[in-house]
Amino acid sequence: MKSRFYDNGLNFECTGCGKCCEYSDAEVYLTESDVDRICNYLTITLKTFIKTYCRTVKGKPVLKSNKTHCIFLNDKRCKIYPVRPDQCRTFPFWGEILKSKSRWDYVGETCEGINQGKLYTFEEIRNAMKSKRDVPGIEDE
Ligand code: SF4
Ligand code: SF4
Repeated sequence: MKSRFYDNGLNFECTGCGKCCEYSDAEVYLTESDVDRICNYLTITLKTFIKTYCRTVKGKPVLKSNKTHCIFLNDKRCKIYPVRPDQCRTFPFWGEILKSKSRWDYVGETCEGINQGKLYTFEEIRNAMKSKRDVPGIEDE
């Protein structure tokens, strides 16, 4: 089997710094279960959620953002952190980031949780990558 730089796992622990939520043109795609969880958490209807927090890209719902950050980022904190979308939940275990050790370390220059804290096993990493790939709208990595 092909060997990967994360065969023995990787350390990651989110500090909640919010840097990965600072973007203006990135797209956070949503699964149906993301939408259900967030609506329940905010106690709002699907219609209100779509109207207030979503825009459409390639026919799929994505979270709105303002000029500098995701609509749910407030004072450097995610307002829906316990129920955040799978795309956010699986960061940084994304195929595009795990293509190489240098790519992983490069992202680690911005994300202070990378190479710190909890050890994720190879299996946990692959499961997170799969969940990210399953989000509708995500291109193959
Ligand atoms: S940049 Fe990294 S440490 Fe900061 S909130 Fe995002 S995942 Fe967590
Ligand atoms: S939903 Fe939360 S974790 Fe995801 S990008 Fe927005 S603020 Fe960040």
